[in-house]
Amino acid sequence: MRILVQKFGGTSVATPERRAQVVSKVSEAVHSGYSPVVVVSAIGRSGDPYATDTFLNMVKGIYSDLPKRELDLLMSCGEVISGTVLVSTLNSLGFEAVLFTGAHAGIITNDDFGDARIVRVEPGAILEQLANGKVVVVTGFQGITEDGQITTLGRGGSDTTASALGVALEAETIDIYTDVDGIMTADPRIVEDARIIDTVTYNEICQLAYQGAKVIHPRAVEIAMQRNIPLRIKSTFSDAPGTLVTNMHPDRGVGTDITNDRIITGIAHTPSVTQLRVLTENAPDLHLTDKRIFKAMALADISVDFISVQPEAALFTVSDEVSSKAVKILQNMGFEPGVIRSCAKVSIVGAGIAGVPGVMADMVEALSDAGVTILQSADSHTTIWVLVHKEDMATAVQALHRKFQLGV
Ligand code: ADP
Ligand code: MG
Repeated sequence: MRILVQKFGGTSVATPERRAQVVSKVSEAVHSGYSPVVVVSAIGRSGDPYATDTFLNMVKGIYSDLPKRELDLLMSCGEVISGTVLVSTLNSLGFEAVLFTGAHAGIITNDDFGDARIVRVEPGAILEQLANGKVVVVTGFQGITEDGQITTLGRGGSDTTASALGVALEAETIDIYTDVDGIMTADPRIVEDARIIDTVTYNEICQLAYQGAKVIHPRAVEIAMQRNIPLRIKSTFSDAPGTLVTNMHPDRGVGTDITNDRIITGIAHTPSVTQLRVLTENAPDLHLTDKRIFKAMALADISVDFISVQPEAALFTVSDEVSSKAVKILQNMGFEPGVIRSCAKVSIVGAGIAGVPGVMADMVEALSDAGVTILQSADSHTTIWVLVHKEDMATAVQALHRKFQLGV
């Protein structure tokens, strides 16, 4: 059996016309001799009747403490709806399709409701249906705990479902279908001349995804990488070849790493973060103070980023959503933090950055020429990040894209 996982995002299943395109991709796979496993997201975006955010808005403000278990039950409904509609469409066109929830598909997760991790997949039931010639449609974004509780996998979770199934079923390829022609050198909504990246390694794309390129979820990339299953990111609405994510270079054969072919792979951005600056110079015991600050954030389940600890201050960012909560905690500890809300993190990512002189100099030059203020910066061997004001985000992404000549 040649198994192919095909995942279709929310925008791909939003309208009957779009679902017809989905069906034609499934049909192509069947006619090419594949046994497809089709993973679907919920229909549309916030405001659309069956979108996950729409469900959340229905209960928001009624009872503020709805347990996460019940929230997950609610959030898992969107994929059941889109999956049912897709099965119905496939069957009406002569396919024999069957709908599996995360539980039916054997996707076992931990009990971290709202952001559950897949611990293993039991693919027996899917394999049985495939052997009977069925097209198996699986609701993305969800799983089940060992003791039978329904969980969801966090934003972008359907990508993770697709990868986990691809690995468990030893699929030939995992195809992630979306509304753009592939992974691009920057978000095409911000950079007009962003270019499709033809081939890229798991590591490079993982970094881009972690830094905000939401076209694929980083967890999905990590899972596929474990077993070297190729990922392709493609458009539901065109026949463009898309982006191939793998460890190999197609022209140079198995095992050749392609990471050094280019310095910069792409530019990513994450909007809506708040910078907090806690002055610690007058604190009686500096080490203890820094420790207390980050402990307090962790205890409140606030994830911190962009951490820079100096003798006189501790700087870090949190998402705008939890910034008021973080400030309150710091105030209760006796600090009056400096707060800059609505910042954005802009990153240049490339496996070739390490050891190449002048990349940071070029970055600073591009941003200062564009009139962008850098609030903070940090780097690793594959990424350089800068924090900028929200209103500078698009300008910064565009300026860096131009500076590093990533466009078409
Ligand atoms: P889906 O509903 O298919 O999961 P998403 O909205 O999650 O779709 O991801 C697709 C979107 O990701 C694109 O419409 C694009 O605006 C955005 N995006 C951000 N960065 C990139 C990038 N580097 N390459 C391609 N798309 C990107
Ligand atoms: Mg997505």
